[in-house]
Amino acid sequence: MKALEEKILSEGTVLPGNVLKVGSFLNQQMDSDFIMEIGREIARLYAGENVTRVLTVESSGIAIAVAAGIALHVPCVFAKKHRSANMPKEVYTASVYSYTHKETYEIAVAKDYVGENDRVLIVDDFLANGNAVRGLMRIIENAGAKLVGCAIAIEKGFQGAGDKLRAEGIRVESLAIVDAMTDESLVFRAQ
Ligand code: 5GP
Repeated sequence: MKALEEKILSEGTVLPGNVLKVGSFLNQQMDSDFIMEIGREIARLYAGENVTRVLTVESSGIAIAVAAGIALHVPCVFAKKHRSANMPKEVYTASVYSYTHKETYEIAVAKDYVGENDRVLIVDDFLANGNAVRGLMRIIENAGAKLVGCAIAIEKGFQGAGDKLRAEGIRVESLAIVDAMTDESLVFRAQ
């Protein structure tokens, strides 16, 4: 998605530890029109796949997952990272190591919100080492649902998780793939 690459180039900054900061349009502040554009692009890529649910993990994946859900006309479910008092007891869980926070946490989805008849599309803002996606995949598997594929806004290709998932036969569509990045330059994969 050319517009996303341009946005990353003009507004993104590279932080120590190979973290790409896109707080001005995707994370902390969200460019609403652009988020909807991302959602429409994800819907276009997965049109005809009979997706019944979009699944993400809180919090930074939610905006584009909702946009994709709106464009696909299906519900969007997010895995919670913290058990809250109003969380149902019946949940699917998975452990996930966080790339940005350097800690392991449990994610949980209420059993009511994903089931064996679902065709699930995983959506997230970033794909780095693949831990978040793999946690969501475990939840889909435990629910007996079908994984249709993954839609990612920004894949950090140099971390390898996207290509590993593809080699396993999982459809991974990333709207921008960064194959190399330094303070001065970003290299996008031609797609
Ligand atoms: P993974 O589980 O694939 O290692 O990392 C994916 C998650 O970590 C994403 O949900 C995202 O929130 C966060 N993340 C990973 N790398 C980056 C990055 O370079 N920039 C930002 N803003 N978030 C990242």
